[in-house]
Amino acid sequence: MSGRARSSASWTDSSRPREGGQPGIRAPAGGTARGPATGMGRERAKPLCSRPHGDRTTVNDPLRLDRADRVLVLAPHPDDETLATGGLLQRALAAGAEVRVLFVTDGEDNPWAQRATEHRWAIGPADRERWGERRRGEAIAALECLGVSRWQTGFLGYPDQGIHRLLLDGDDDLIETLTGEIARVDPTLLVAPALEDLHPDHSALAVFVRLALARLAAGGRPRERQFVVHHDGPLPASARDAVLTLTPEERERKRLAILCHASQLRLRRRALLGFADAQELFLAPAAPGEHDARHPVRHARVDGGVALLLELERRGRPGAFGATDLWLLLERPGHRLALAGRLPRRAGPVELFERGGGSLVARGELRPRERGLPDRVSLPASLLSGWVQAYVKLERRFGFFDEAGWRALSCCAAAAETPERLVPYAAPLRAREAAAARPARRDRG
Ligand SMILES: [Zn+2]
Repeated sequence: MSGRARSSASWTDSSRPREGGQPGIRAPAGGTARGPATGMGRERAKPLCSRPHGDRTTVNDPLRLDRADRVLVLAPHPDDETLATGGLLQRALAAGAEVRVLFVTDGEDNPWAQRATEHRWAIGPADRERWGERRRGEAIAALECLGVSRWQTGFLGYPDQGIHRLLLDGDDDLIETLTGEIARVDPTLLVAPALEDLHPDHSALAVFVRLALARLAAGGRPRERQFVVHHDGPLPASARDAVLTLTPEERERKRLAILCHASQLRLRRRALLGFADAQELFLAPAAPGEHDARHPVRHARVDGGVALLLELERRGRPGAFGATDLWLLLERPGHRLALAGRLPRRAGPVELFERGGGSLVARGELRPRERGLPDRVSLPASLLSGWVQAYVKLERRFGFFDEAGWRALSCCAAAAETPERLVPYAAPLRAREAAAARPARRDRG
């Protein structure tokens, strides 16, 4: 992705533009560098309110901020910054903290909202470009409504609905960008999506943030809090690390900021405005563990030193249904590998193929639920040998959202010494056999 333009951010003066243009502006993937996001044309969103005065209501400890703080919010799409952190941003500014908001995509691949708003069916590249520009303008207006100036806002221009693919393709560009921005801003509080968000872009960005933070020196890591915008039912109380209760004035300002995202209101007005009535919930980044009660991969452990054992509780729903693919993402500095395999409905072999090249990497099996035990997938533990971070995900064949987001595995260290000879399958399958077993790509359009 060397064709993208990159620029840097500064915290020196949040009220004035820096010489040389806007911070953090990048060209879209595969495209040319864009100019400043001020040319919003006829559909430019208008700010609905002036700067907030700032409330001084109590905030619990994980989110306590003061003038020494620097807050960096990473938003996958325009609107996430307001929905998830509209109250926190107001609170940070009122406390005198520095604030920076980076949008990873422009939200340009948003076809149903665009069709409903523009009354057109066919949407081509030029239409998406225009839609992305409109959404950038709406984000700027919403942030100005919350008190965040244009010069505290940046757009990275990565492809909307494409962050998941960048993750699987082994693209390092976004990791380098995030590492650079985090190092440059040096936030005391980093606010980013959680792994468990059901939107593939959100969950993939959460993994990218984990990979970027791993590249920073341990002493340079900021305090983190995560947000979930897309979830199935209320987040359990155990997941809520910090709750920000908004004052009536903050809620009203957040509501006005949400209204700046007019492109999203035709189809989701009620759902979006609901974010102004709610408390803002934040999660602490959880260390990878053997058990995760909220993820369909309930247990993940290296069993007897030879098998990577995954215990599954699969539950489809309207947003994610059909056959299940198991994804395994492995990472060590300088290399990332994505493996995928279709799970049988009940019992049978599980074959993991390398993303892209398609060669068979490992073979295991799925054992069905029996005697109170859940479905279990057994894979060679040596799959994890030599890797530093590992993530697993179940992806349904149909539906836009995930059954669950990515889940970090804790067993790389346990698998480190697994003898190579225990890999049960090493020879490539015949091409036709491999093609028949390879999971089909899901169309998220
Ligand atoms: Zn989003």
